[in-house]
This record gives sequence, structure tokens and C-alpha cells, in this order.
Amino acid sequence: MIILASRNAHKLTEVREILQPLVPELDGIDGAPDDIPEPVEDGRTFAENAVMKAQQIALRLGVPAIADDSGLCVDIMGGAPGIFSARWAGRHGDDLANLHLLLNQLDDVKGEDRTARFVCAAALALPDGTVVVEEGEMAGTLRYEPVGEGGFGYDPIFQPDGHDVTTAQLAPEEKNAISHRRKAFEALAPHIQRALEAE
Ligand code: IMP
Repeated sequence: MIILASRNAHKLTEVREILQPLVPELDGIDGAPDDIPEPVEDGRTFAENAVMKAQQIALRLGVPAIADDSGLCVDIMGGAPGIFSARWAGRHGDDLANLHLLLNQLDDVKGEDRTARFVCAAALALPDGTVVVEEGEMAGTLRYEPVGEGGFGYDPIFQPDGHDVTTAQLAPEEKNAISHRRKAFEALAPHIQRALEAE
């Protein structure tokens, strides 16, 4: 058994698809005991935050746990919003407000200066305290207006390199084939396999 330390339904769906068939059943923590506090994401990097989230659940529930911490890094903004992506507009998880604030901030930024990348750190934590973390990236450019209904977060304004649509316009399996999350969890997969075999 392995648990994804997240209450984000979109992430759970993506990670489930990415880890098939290695992890046939993957639960999030929505059904877990209510007294699990929201993780404090006070790390300085995606990797630190991912490790904290996975470790908290592995130690609390006594099972192997995986977690990701991810975000959008805009080159001309020095990598911001980065680890603050989920709460860029002030409230945690207000995707629409985050996206519109970022578009406004980039109002005067044109063409080739609108480069950005999604980054994901994926961590595996075991109840014995062992942790492993891997990273993946997806490079692209930012649109001027949101387009597309799929995905979540900043997907409607992110056009991955080599595509002429946003990640919100890609089918879920198309996004999963190229995503930062895919690359990070693919790198983590051999460690997950070893943990499952050891159980
Ligand atoms: P986390 O839950 O702390 O990892 O926050 C990740 C935040 O980064 C999300 O709330 C989104 O705003 C953004 N983000 C991360 N991955 C993606 C993605 O695949 N598409 C769109 N936005 C993403």
C-alpha cells in the first residue's frame, strides 16, 4: 500500500495515471483521519516541501507515502511564483486569482521574454524515515489570455514547447506524456517499486 499525501483531486488523477501499472491503487488523504493537519509548506525549495509532505504522512500513518510539490517558474520573474505558485494571489489554491494576477504582472512582457517552466519535485517517504526525491520540468511560454478547460492551476496560460496549444487544451494523456509531474514520478518509480516489493 502507498498513499499520495495530497487532497488535490487533479493531482491525484494525474499521479494515478502516471504510476499505472506500477501502483494499481493509489489513494489520497481525503479519506484519511480528520486529525491529519494541513502540511506546513515552509521549505525553501520544491524538493524540501515534497519531502516534508511525504514524511508527515508516512510517519503519521505508518505506510509508504509519496508527495509532490510543484509550481510555475517564470524566467523574467527570476523563477517566481515558484514555490509560491499555489498562493500567489494570497489565498491557497485560488487558481483563477493566481492566474489573473500573473497575467497582469506580465502585461508589458512580450514574445520571447514570456518563457517559463513547470517544475515538480516528487518524494517518497518510508515509515522508517528513509526519503528519496526526484525532479522533473516542462518548458514552455506563457499566453496573453487563458485558453482551454482541462488541467488545473496555470494550465490555461501555459503553452509547452513543441505544441501550439496550452496544457489546458491537451487531453489528459497528452499532458501526462510530457509533464513535469510525469518526469519526476517516472524517476521516482524504481524507488517506489523497491518499497512495494519490500512490504
Ligand atoms: P502544490 O500543491 O503546493 O504543489 O502547488 C502547486 C501549484 O502550482 C498549483 O496550485 C498550481 O497553481 C501550480 N501547478 C503545479 N503543477 C501544475 C500543473 O500541472 N498545471 C498547472 N498548474 C500547476
